Amino acid sequence: MQSLLFKKDENLLHTEKKEASSSHELELLSEKAKVCHNCTLAATRLNVVFGEGNPFAGVAVIGEAPGAEEDASGRPFTGKSGQLLDKMLKAAGFARQEVYICNILKCRPPGNRNPLKDEIRSCMPWLLEQLQIVKPRVILILGKVAANTIFENRLSLGSMRGKVIIWQQVDCFITYHPAALLRNPHLKKEWLEDIQLMTGHYETIGRKQNALENEN
Ligand code: URA
Repeated sequence: MQSLLFKKDENLLHTEKKEASSSHELELLSEKAKVCHNCTLAATRLNVVFGEGNPFAGVAVIGEAPGAEEDASGRPFTGKSGQLLDKMLKAAGFARQEVYICNILKCRPPGNRNPLKDEIRSCMPWLLEQLQIVKPRVILILGKVAANTIFENRLSLGSMRGKVIIWQQVDCFITYHPAALLRNPHLKKEWLEDIQLMTGHYETIGRKQNALENEN
């Protein structure tokens, strides 16, 4: 499938400058995050898993927290879930390096337990800063835990799928966590619907934005 990434700016030089500055800002932020001791996970982590991808991405993907493989590699979604995430992205028309991938927690909770409230409180500022730099047009949220954390609710995943939910002024889409899909392959039809909904929306806002830019 053809890539859906569209240019955010008609002026290529301007775009390149913005990309370079986003990339630099993310690097600086990541250096700070790497020495974070704001919660107790710092004591058990092997690596801070800051996030990676296109610093100027139109799509940001947010997972829950690093697992064992991510803790060891220092990169998000590198284990089995990551391989499935890459497939999901491909089905949506994106290469992994086109999007920006990160998690709510930057350090692995022991035994892959759910994030605790104080860990979320400590880690959220990193995520907010990342998103302020990348400025994605849409966010794909993976799984109920990540969605409940971001929207500060306790709703079921089923009730959050299939629609746009605005958070931090960005249009968010919620789908199953790849780990859930690995356990329940029959959910593939649903996540395909979710991904298609997101890409359709992304294309529409991209077209609108490009039209606006052409007017100016
Ligand atoms: N699960 C997540 O939520 N994030 C990762 O990076 C890996 C697995």
